[in-house]
Amino acid sequence: MIPILTNLRYMSGWTVGYEFPEEFPPLSKKRNFLYLRVICTVWNTMRCSAITGTQFSLHDLAGHPECNARLETACSGLDPGCPVHPPAACSIGDVERVHSRMYIDMLRERCETTATVNYLDPDTYITRYSFDVATLAAGSAIAAVDRALSGEHCFALVRPPGHHAEHSRAMGFCLLNNAAVAAAYALKNVDRIAIVDWDYHHGNGTQAMFYTSNRVLYCSVHQHDAFPYTGSVQETGRGDGAGFTINAPLHAGSAIADYTAVFSEVFVPAIARFGPDAIIVSAGQDILFDDPLGMMAIRPEDLEILARMLTETGTPLALVLEGGYGPSHGEAVAGIFRGLEPGRKNGTEIKEEPRRSTAGTVALLKKIHGLD
Ligand SMILES: [Zn+2]
Repeated sequence: MIPILTNLRYMSGWTVGYEFPEEFPPLSKKRNFLYLRVICTVWNTMRCSAITGTQFSLHDLAGHPECNARLETACSGLDPGCPVHPPAACSIGDVERVHSRMYIDMLRERCETTATVNYLDPDTYITRYSFDVATLAAGSAIAAVDRALSGEHCFALVRPPGHHAEHSRAMGFCLLNNAAVAAAYALKNVDRIAIVDWDYHHGNGTQAMFYTSNRVLYCSVHQHDAFPYTGSVQETGRGDGAGFTINAPLHAGSAIADYTAVFSEVFVPAIARFGPDAIIVSAGQDILFDDPLGMMAIRPEDLEILARMLTETGTPLALVLEGGYGPSHGEAVAGIFRGLEPGRKNGTEIKEEPRRSTAGTVALLKKIHGLD
């Protein structure tokens, strides 16, 4: 068993930052196949897994909030027993489903001609390797949704984040819209995908990409009147997509009682009515109380509650990392994984009531979206 475990480690690179010893011999094709079958057998019985790797550190800028150190903090919450798969790049064709070819070519060229660091806008930097890293992030989101569609919850712990990236421009630290690339990929084979975006900021890019689609239900809860200043209750979709965008803007300082009110009274019933084949979660933990960019009052253990409310819909989840820049990010990721475990119940009883402003928003959303 020990050699098998060693080879599982060898083939998958499952430990973040794990360096393979140079003397480790390559496996023969036949043995590779044998071990691959063992891996598949073991992993298919797992209820959840993660995708991450050290390659994301090639897109990095010290002192910038969206730096690789934050991914390391997030990954500190990974359970040692959780299978971790290495990232894999997506194709240009995968990216082209949601981004224009002109933007893709511009992004690649700007990265290739960058010596150290360049900026696409005052927030969004690139390095020479950023295009390749961005395709790894989007490819990992695709791999996560593939795993979800085969019945396994999977969290792609990747960067740069994606939900602000629009059809033809980078924005807000985001280069390629990872969640949107994954959703568009999944729609090749399934009918409907729900995206739940709990990041502190509204996912303007994701919303815009599916605004006229009735095959993607986009649900976002975010801070009212904060960057990128979109995501009002009245933004509900257009044409065939009318009613398939649900925005729940909350006031600064909102806590778990506010988020659970939105989830239990709006998002979960809307998802049940929609009947998606999988839920992609734009998991931005900048809603945490100690996040330097956010102003919400979510505790790390609250993320377990939100994750569980989605797993209890009975729909497999593909989570994709968005924001999250604070010191308790690792604890929150650990909470999310607890929320993905089957059979566990939330241990924390929520005694507080949602704020009056949240209750008003929830009532309005129920009316607008016919969820009364
Ligand atoms: Zn954010």
